[in-house]
Formats: sequence, C-alpha cells, structure tokens
Amino acid sequence: MLGTPLSASATRLLMLGAGELGKEVLIAAQRLGVETVAVDRYADAPAMQVAHRSHVLDMTDPEAILALVKRERPHFVVPEIEAIATSALAEIEALGLATVVPSARAVQLTMDREGIRRLAAEELGLPTSPYRFAGTLAELEAAAAMLGFPCVIKPVMSSSGKGQSIVRGAAELALAWQEAQTAGRVGGQRIIVEGFVDFDFEITLLTVRSAFGTTFCAPIGHRQEAGDYVESWQPQPMSEAALQQAEKMAQLVTSNLGGRGLYGVEFFVRGEEVIFSELSPRPHDTGLVTLASQRQSEFDLHLRAILGLPVDPGFRRPAASAVIRGKDLGWGPVYSGLEEALAVPESDLRLFGKPTVSKLRRLGVGIACADDVEEARRRARRVAEAIKIRPAS
Ligand code: AMP
Repeated sequence: MLGTPLSASATRLLMLGAGELGKEVLIAAQRLGVETVAVDRYADAPAMQVAHRSHVLDMTDPEAILALVKRERPHFVVPEIEAIATSALAEIEALGLATVVPSARAVQLTMDREGIRRLAAEELGLPTSPYRFAGTLAELEAAAAMLGFPCVIKPVMSSSGKGQSIVRGAAELALAWQEAQTAGRVGGQRIIVEGFVDFDFEITLLTVRSAFGTTFCAPIGHRQEAGDYVESWQPQPMSEAALQQAEKMAQLVTSNLGGRGLYGVEFFVRGEEVIFSELSPRPHDTGLVTLASQRQSEFDLHLRAILGLPVDPGFRRPAASAVIRGKDLGWGPVYSGLEEALAVPESDLRLFGKPTVSKLRRLGVGIACADDVEEARRRARRVAEAIKIRPAS
C-alpha cells in the first residue's frame, strides 16, 4: 500500500545524507509517489534537489536527528552516509518511530571499519586481509612490524580513500599516521592496518535483501585510484566457483546484519581465492553502472526492497561507468561538452549538481553499454572525458 505524497495518506521516506547515490534513490521513490525528505549538512545537496522537502542538519547530533524524525514522521529512515549519530537510529528503532534501513545495527556496525571487520573475520570466520587496529603511532609501528610491508593504512572512519596510504617501509609510517589523522572523517581516530592483498581484480557484489529472500546482481568490477573509485563495469568475468564463494559470504554477512535493502559487498579475488574487504548497507558508488546494465538499477532495487516489493536484479547488457571529477571550481561550476559526450553510442550521463566544489570531488559519471565490457569501458571513458568543467564566470 502506498499513499499520495503531500497528503495525510503519504508514505514518507527520510534520507540522511543527500549525495548523488541518495539522489537516485529519491528519484526512484518519486516515481512511485513516495513523499521524500533529504537531509545533509549543507544546503542544495544533490538529493535535496529532487526531494519534496530538505533540511540542513548536523547528522552527528543525535538530538537533532530525533527531533527531525519526530517532526517529519517518516515511515522509513534511510542512511546514505556513514557519519551519522547511530545512537539516534537505535532509539528511532526502539521507540518504533520508523523503520531504519536496513537496520540500526547494520548501520552502526558498518559505520567504522572495526565493527564490520571484527564481525566478518572474527565472528563469521570470513577470509580477509590480515589486520591490526592502532590508536597511536607506536601501536601502528608494532602492527606494521607484525604484518610486514607493503601494508595499507586507513582511518577506521573514512571512505573514498580519504586518509588512506600504502606504506612500503618503516620510514613511511609517521607520514601515513599523520595523513590518517588529518584526512579521515573525524580527527584523532583509530586506524586499521591491513596486509596488502595483491589481487587479480576486485568486485562489488550487490546483494538485495527483500521480503522474498536474498538475491544477487552480476558481479561489478572496478578500478580505484588512491582508494577512490574511478571506473566500474558489469559483469566482471570470474569463475563460477569464485562467484559462488562470494555469494555465500555475502549471504552470511548480510543475513547477520538483517533488515531489508540493498547491500554493496566488496571482495578481492586472487586466483580462486575470494577475500572479503568491506561492505556498505546501502547502494554503492561502483553500482552506478547498474543505471545502464540492469533493468532495475541498484537504486530501484534498494527502494523496492525497502517498500517490501518484488525485486528483479536481472542483468540486461554489458555496461561501464567512468567518474567525472573536479577541483577548486567554487560555486556553480559550468559543464560543457555534453553534445560530444552524448553522441557516444549507447551512452548516458549523470551530473550530480553539487553546488560548490573546492577539494577534488566526484561531480558526475559517464555511462555506456556495448556488446562487451571492454568496449563499454572505452565508451564510458569517452563520455567522461568529453565533459569539461569551468568555474562560473
Ligand atoms: P576501501 O575504502 O577499504 O574499500 O579501500 C579502497 C580501495 O583501496 C580498495 O577498493 C582497494 O582497491 C584498495 N585496498 C584497500 N585495502 C587493500 C588491501 N588490504 N590490499 C590491497 N588493496 C587494498
């Protein structure tokens, strides 16, 4: 049952975080007549531009979140980012104010790398890279000595490669520690030190927990630069045995986390060995490719699973995505080259509409289909490269 938006019968969805992934989920919600509310810490964020209402809020403040939920009375609270006061989500769930997607526990455990890593490796016994946690430079030095070099250092609260470094020798540790402290989501925090996995390729396995069970999308391959996604494609060729292992692990970890919605489960693959890396309890940036490769994108799937509707994660056609980034552009940058970009066969484009660009940011994505993944990758890159961005004059 769905009501009419902006009426007493409305089905309301409140999104915490209003970036480009949330924007696509809200567009999917709008198509079914769901009333949408977008929240972020700055005005005019991408998802706010397609929501019925929006609020600027410090999402690390539990009181502010609770007060807003009491005012907006959503049926669903859908976190889109990690940096949220998870105590508020637990309270919303405990008081029965709304359904937290996929569940307050899933959001809490994946909010920092320590929770999900300990669950996956220590409780569920999934293979992962060898790892240690450290809260001081001395602890980091001891951990690195144990794990050996190269090793990967990441703040426990970070994403998109922020504060992440690959360290090749003991002399580089102090700099990596400094980097993790200043560039993570919050300063002065713990880090994870991981043994470097020399993988053949890495995948995101989109896993949908709907009212009708758990289903998987075809594996998505991706390429990262400095820990940030630059390109993804679907399907990633891999052996049936390796895919089955990945699906089994994704099933195990997502059923432990529970709830309904789409999860992005990341693995490294080396030969026939499948190694769990991390997980998002929400659509994944590398899954932007599904806007072209599947009949129902990861955003449609997330929304349908949230609403308790049937999902179809079926693959349609090989496709790829290539990220468009910009830096130091100020307010209201201007995009050109769209004619050339969209003349690429079977192409599509998303420009996220981020209001201001100072640090290096993802601003859009070029997407394309083709008969095979290699051609789709070339096409998606052509779309992305055709887009030129300049500051407003
Ligand atoms: P993460 O934020 O943990 O997903 O890391 C971002 C990217 O960094 C991954 O997608 C990998 O490409 C790379 N990476 C992270 N951890 C490791 C590791 N232990 N060994 C090799 N590469 C890694």
